[in-house]
Amino acid sequence: MLTHNYDQVVQNIQAACKRAERKPEEVTLIAVSKTKPVSMLSEIYNHGCRHFGENKVQELVEKYEALPKDIKWHMIGHLQRNKVKYIVDKVFLIHSVDSLRLAEEISREAVKKQVQVNILIEVNVAREESKFGCTPENACELTMAIAKLPNICIKGYMTIAPYVENPEDNRGHFRKLKQIAVDIMRKNIDNVSIEYLSMGMTGDYETAVEEGADFVRVGTGIFGERDYTV
Ligand SMILES: *Cc1c(COP(=O)(O)O)cnc(C)c1O
Repeated sequence: MLTHNYDQVVQNIQAACKRAERKPEEVTLIAVSKTKPVSMLSEIYNHGCRHFGENKVQELVEKYEALPKDIKWHMIGHLQRNKVKYIVDKVFLIHSVDSLRLAEEISREAVKKQVQVNILIEVNVAREESKFGCTPENACELTMAIAKLPNICIKGYMTIAPYVENPEDNRGHFRKLKQIAVDIMRKNIDNVSIEYLSMGMTGDYETAVEEGADFVRVGTGIFGERDYTV
């Protein structure tokens, strides 16, 4: 079942790439495995999946310890500064950096552990009050400030679009994130190499791919509904 779902999502991404005249290898599928047991992750790992996304530090660390070391772990959830130290040397990419203070902590821990940490800046494109992320207006200033910190490298931008019934309703938000990235890229800021846009989830990843997503984060579409009651 899981491998079937996974293949279906991969196929949908390929079809979206075709519509947008993009190469399928430009888009990376992140299997968002939060709340799901290691056995389920293993199943799609064995099927070829190497990118997994988690939103809680402790869960990410536990799964990191339990699973093969060639997995690329993505921290996609809100990150508290006091937990940064547990993951800087374990993650491939932190998607959810939305303040200078958090970036400073990541930089400090990265220097201590002598690693380079790749991050995305989270932008609250739709200005939802319930969501984290910097405002679209602040994205450039925040990028310039973080770019000055040692051992941290800005790789692009991430957004969590609103929950919508019709993915078309989020197309404008995805376009907006792309525009923000292009505008900042044109400024040629030192130590900033904008390569990735992380956008699109189960309900809207195909639209996100059409609008330029490099990483899509799909949970429910692969693993099924999450059960938070257990
Ligand atoms: C849970 C989560 C996802 C995956 O959501 P689905 O709708 O289950 O695909 C993607 N991105 C973030 C930041 C998440 O927290």
